Amino acid sequence: MQAKILVIHGDGIGPEVTTVGQAVLKKVAELFGHQFSFEEALLGHQAIVATGQPLPEDTLQKAKNVDAILFGAIGHPMYDQNPNLPVRPEQGLLKLRKELGLFANLRPIQVFEELLEASPIKPEILRGADILFFRELTGGIYFGTPRERRDNGNTAVDTCIYTKAEVRRIAVMAFQAAKNRRGKVTSVDKANVLETSRLWRETVTEVAQDFPEVELEHQLVDSMTMKLISQPRNYDVILTENLFGDILTDEASQIAGSMGLLASASVGSNVGLYEPIHGSAPDIAGQNVANPIASVLSASLLLSMSLNLKTESEAVVQAVRLVLSEGYRTKDIATPQTPSNQLLGTREMGEKILQKLAALAV
Ligand code: NAD
Repeated sequence: MQAKILVIHGDGIGPEVTTVGQAVLKKVAELFGHQFSFEEALLGHQAIVATGQPLPEDTLQKAKNVDAILFGAIGHPMYDQNPNLPVRPEQGLLKLRKELGLFANLRPIQVFEELLEASPIKPEILRGADILFFRELTGGIYFGTPRERRDNGNTAVDTCIYTKAEVRRIAVMAFQAAKNRRGKVTSVDKANVLETSRLWRETVTEVAQDFPEVELEHQLVDSMTMKLISQPRNYDVILTENLFGDILTDEASQIAGSMGLLASASVGSNVGLYEPIHGSAPDIAGQNVANPIASVLSASLLLSMSLNLKTESEAVVQAVRLVLSEGYRTKDIATPQTPSNQLLGTREMGEKILQKLAALAV
């Protein structure tokens, strides 16, 4: 198959981990006889430095003309330390998702048996947990207006808005996914307090009527934070709005063991955007210690979801599993028992995964 893929490395550890994800895609093309062509583009801090814009027009045009996008992360400490800077890296990513119509963010949370000990949660609670989050991505409080200061700067206003159509389109996706999994959707809201949550609950309940084979439960977000880590095996598909999803998926990263393990897919139009859930991790950038597995698993999602290459996608996951089962670890998932010759840097972990992939394809 032929496919055009845009690679956006971004900031911080973005280039280090995305180089590994891209190498995996190149290896898949070589081993399985596909032709992938790659383009590159700027986003975030890198783009601001080069062009003054967090999302340059060139990046947007390229993004609209490919089959899929592999993205790293954006962000730089200078903006985190100065929240009032008007031009910011995250504006680029938010605008890119909006322009491409990527309204659903899918985040699979799976526990690798080999990494049970890497999570702060007890193995007997974790074993077998397998959750797929659907986070709404282009609505809610991150986008609503007015968003402003009033009263000489002493009052701040954000606005949370959802339309029925926005809730319905992601709910349908979540129910369709649940139908092909274990048949359960947990919809998370704050319907006891928020009007947008009441609309959310009402709409999700309506959509559920078209999927009688799927069980629907509603869960308030505050108790969800607790149950997610105390009973993770109870959940199959978790459906939630933008802000709640942002928080819950970071919490869920602890079920898998590390932010460095979790991939995500943003979909909704012709072009899918695939990225680790982690940020630019400036504390470890440039040190060859970042875990590239989240980028590798993002590449795997890209293969299955945008290119419909299920066998290739599964081979990538299997390669990761084999490397982990042989005891190789990056620093974030190592334990005090990890032997020093099995503690790998970003590039070395990438090399091991490529070797296993090649062996699997023989
Ligand atoms: P972060 O995800 O970058 O890092 C949180 C912690 O996890 C850090 O200790 C980091 O070292 C560790 N970590 C993250 N990825 C790792 C990996 N692959 N391997 C090993 N350890 C890893 O979150 P943060 O520190 O809150 O934010 C840093 C910057 O990233 C900020 O500028 C923020 O705005 C930005 N950010 C970007 C995105 C994105 O691009 N989608 C998402 C979240 C945060």
